[in-house]
Amino acid sequence: MSDRYNVKETEARWQKAWDEKKCFEVTESAARPKYYTLAMFPYPSGKLHVGHMRNYTMSDIVARYKRARGYNVLNPMGWDAFGLPAENAAMENKTHPAKWTYANIAAMKADLKLMGLAIDWSREITTCAPDYYKHEQKFFLDFLRNGLAYQKESFVNWDPIENTVLANEQVVDGRGWRSGALVERRKLKQWFLKITAFADDLLDGIKQLEGWPEKVRLMQENWIGKSQGLKFFFEFTKPKGQRLEIYTTRPDTLFGASFVALSPDHPVAQKLAKNDTGVEAFIEKCRKLGTSEAVIETAEKIGHDTGLTVVHPFIAGKTLRVFIANFVLMEYGTGAIFGCPAHDQRDLDFARKYNLDVVPVVIPEDKNPKEFAVDMEAYVGPGRLFNSDFLNGMSVEDAKAEVIRRFESAKTGQGTTLYRLRDWGVSRQRYWGCPIPVIHCQACGVVPVPEKDLPVTLPEDVAFDKPGNPIYNHPTWKKVNCPKCS
Ligand SMILES: [Zn+2]
Repeated sequence: MSDRYNVKETEARWQKAWDEKKCFEVTESAARPKYYTLAMFPYPSGKLHVGHMRNYTMSDIVARYKRARGYNVLNPMGWDAFGLPAENAAMENKTHPAKWTYANIAAMKADLKLMGLAIDWSREITTCAPDYYKHEQKFFLDFLRNGLAYQKESFVNWDPIENTVLANEQVVDGRGWRSGALVERRKLKQWFLKITAFADDLLDGIKQLEGWPEKVRLMQENWIGKSQGLKFFFEFTKPKGQRLEIYTTRPDTLFGASFVALSPDHPVAQKLAKNDTGVEAFIEKCRKLGTSEAVIETAEKIGHDTGLTVVHPFIAGKTLRVFIANFVLMEYGTGAIFGCPAHDQRDLDFARKYNLDVVPVVIPEDKNPKEFAVDMEAYVGPGRLFNSDFLNGMSVEDAKAEVIRRFESAKTGQGTTLYRLRDWGVSRQRYWGCPIPVIHCQACGVVPVPEKDLPVTLPEDVAFDKPGNPIYNHPTWKKVNCPKCS
C-alpha cells in the first residue's frame, strides 16, 4: 500500500492546505442555508483515545456531507475544562489545575489536528477561560433575577478529616476515598437551577422529537418521571395529635398498606436517633451502604422497626408499624411512604423479609377474588379494586381519584404532581470551577455582582498543600465591598 498511498506525506500536505486556505472557517452568508454540528466537547484529560476518534469522526462526516450539499456549516470544537480531575491531578503532581489543563489541551489539540477534522478552530472555546465563563456568570445573574437560580439546604457527603465535600464517586463503602474517614451527611446551603420549572415543557418537547428511537424517548420520559400522587397525613398512635406526612403515587392501594417507611434523613428518624442507639446504628449502616440514588436502588433493602405506629385512616382499629428504611429518599416526596407489598415489588421484598402482611387490593379482570394471591411477585398491572371497602369494583384510576377526593374534602391531604427530575445543584465547594457571581453581605444578604464587574475570576495564587478547597485559605479573594451598602 505504501507505494500507492503515502499516509504521512499526503495527509500532512492536505491538512496544511486546509489550514492555510482556512477551509473550515465560516462566516455569515445569507445565500446559503445554515447548519450547525455540535459534538460533545472533550474533557482535557491528557490524551485522545479511540472513543474520541469514533465520536469526532461521526460529527465530521455529518459536517462534510452537509457542506458538500451546499450548507454553510459551523463545526466548532471546545474544551469542557473545569472539574475535579484537574484539581486532584494538581494535588498529586504539585502543580496548578490551570497549568495541567492547558498542557493537556495543547497535546490533545495537536492530536485532533492530525485527524484532519473539518473544524473551525478560530472559534475554539475553553470553559475554564474567563472570556468564556463570564457568559456563564451572566446567565446565572439572569436566572437569579428571574427566580430560576436559588439557594436551599441540601445534603452533601462531608469528609471530616479533609474538611471538604466529596462527590458521590469519591465515597467508597461509606468512607472518603483519600482520608478513609467515615463520610457524614451534612446539610449545606447550596445553589440550584430550577430545571423542574420546565419539566412539562421538556415532556412536551419529547413528543415532538422525530426519528428518535422509542427507547431513547422513553428513557428521557422516565428521567423526568412525572407522577400524579397524593400527599396526606397519618396520625401517630402516640403521642396523640402528632402527624406524619406521606407521599404516594398509588393512593388506590391504601387498603393494602401494611407498613410505613421513613428515610434515614427524615426528621422523625433523626430525632429518634438522638435517644436510641439502635436507630443511630441503623442510620449509620444505611450511610455505609451508600447515599446516592443509584446506589440505593441496587442495594439490599433493609429496615429498622422504630416501635412507633400510625393509625390507618380508613380501617377502624388498624395500625401500621413505622420503619426506617434505606430505600426511602428524603429528596423525593416527603421522605415517608406507606408500603403496599401486594402491588410494589420493593415493598413486597421488604414485607417478606420482615414478615409483614401482604393484602392484595387490585385484581386482574379475569381472576377470581377468592383464589387471587400474591406470593413473591407483586401485581403491578391494571384491574379492579377489592378488599377495599368503598373502593371495591373501581378501576385503579377511579380509585386514585376517589381517595384523593376524600382526603381533599376532609382537608387532610392534597393531590400533588411530582417529578423524579431534581433541580440542578451547581454548588461545588471546589476551587476549579466557575465562580458563582454573588456576594454574601452580612447586612444585605445575597447581592448579585454588577454585570459591569464580570467576570469574577478565580484567584490564581492558591496553594494545594492542604486538604479541602484552597479558596478557604486564600487571604483576600473572599472579601469585597458590598455593591449595595459598600
Ligand atoms: Zn450590603
